[in-house]
Amino acid sequence: MKIPEKINILGFDYDIILQDFINDNLIVDNRVCAGTINYHTYKIYINTMEKDEQNISQTLMHEIIHAIEHTFDRLNEYTNFTEWQIDMLATGLASIIILNDI
Ligand SMILES: [Zn+2]
Repeated sequence: MKIPEKINILGFDYDIILQDFINDNLIVDNRVCAGTINYHTYKIYINTMEKDEQNISQTLMHEIIHAIEHTFDRLNEYTNFTEWQIDMLATGLASIIILNDI
């Protein structure tokens, strides 16, 4: 799956930043994350350390799904996807895109 430098998600341009080092951008609640998204600065950070294409694609898809959820439900009134549900969708969608070369 091609990893672009920018991606438009429902009208909002997000920068995609691939990081092979840890800093505050990848830490949430004292844990190092595979990826994070900042809805204020429109940046998606992907941890690329010891990750293959499949891992990076799944992580990007995970953050894209967070962005979709956030865009449709800015006040957090309706959707409450769990991390497991987002991971399930992200893994499925990334796999389909990679295996079918789309
Ligand atoms: Zn998440």
